[in-house]
Amino acid sequence: MASSSQEVPATSKKLQGKVAVITGGASGIGACTTRLFVKHGARVVVADIQDELGGSLCAELGPENSSYVHCDVTDEADVAAAVDHAVAKFGGLDVMFNNAGVGGAPCYSIRDAAKEDLERMLAVNVVGPFLGTKHAARVMVPARRRGSIISTSSMASAVAGPGPHAYAASKHAVVGLMRNAAAELGRHGIRVNCVAPAAVATPMSTGMGGVDKQATVEAVMEAAANLKGVGLKVDDIAAAALFLASDDARYVSGQNLLIDGGFSVVNPSFGFFKD
Ligand code: NAD
Repeated sequence: MASSSQEVPATSKKLQGKVAVITGGASGIGACTTRLFVKHGARVVVADIQDELGGSLCAELGPENSSYVHCDVTDEADVAAAVDHAVAKFGGLDVMFNNAGVGGAPCYSIRDAAKEDLERMLAVNVVGPFLGTKHAARVMVPARRRGSIISTSSMASAVAGPGPHAYAASKHAVVGLMRNAAAELGRHGIRVNCVAPAAVATPMSTGMGGVDKQATVEAVMEAAANLKGVGLKVDDIAAAALFLASDDARYVSGQNLLIDGGFSVVNPSFGFFKD
């Protein structure tokens, strides 16, 4: 695990001189990724609706490294303004991380599913990355800087059953958007990918499904996990985002990178393997 608390030697910085926008950057995966990107030399615009949290994160990281903007990702003017802010303040845009998302209310049956809940999740989890990809491309294409656009999908984009229907629908949609954008933007040298986490303890997941403690999220995941005894942390998702943002992934595009310890490719029903 690449801990976001370790210092990175100058020669090992993977995003030196790069500029990133991270939506949902005030909390959870986004905040951890913001810290890691800054450690690796990036200047980061944190775009979120939690102004106090985002503002204090940027105050801690310093105005030379980060800048907070209020940005509701469902609002095109806000998303356009966040991208323009990165260009105006830091001189360009190399990495767009469409990470803001919502889990919605717990819902254990399609018979109880509310249309409004689906619409809210599509608005944040799909319209958000759609607008982020659009406005990132708007500045990346003419700048010819070979950018990287990343969206946060989920394990729920690849395997059925781990979450509510509306959430699964929204995360499948974001993968389709990513692939289509990769098909268009490749000719401009722009890579487009998703990072797809399994359940990891953040304010979102600790508030979902009646699970109210970090330890409980981790215990539930450990019991269900294919990869035992490791334990997924937000740092692991941030490390995957760093990989996709950096030149380490210079020929990686159109991928939905699952950070799930193999969970989504394993069907344990037969229990074939034995020690
Ligand atoms: P989080 O709640 O800690 O962070 C989500 C952030 O998005 C918050 O800061 C929130 O203010 C912001 N946000 C919500 N709506 C917004 C809007 N309309 N405009 C701008 N910002 C908005 O949760 P997290 O777990 O860090 O979630 C980050 C991403 O990871 C989400 O897309 C989520 O679906 C995805 N994800 C999370 C998990 C998990 O288990 N935590 C698993 C798979 C995928």
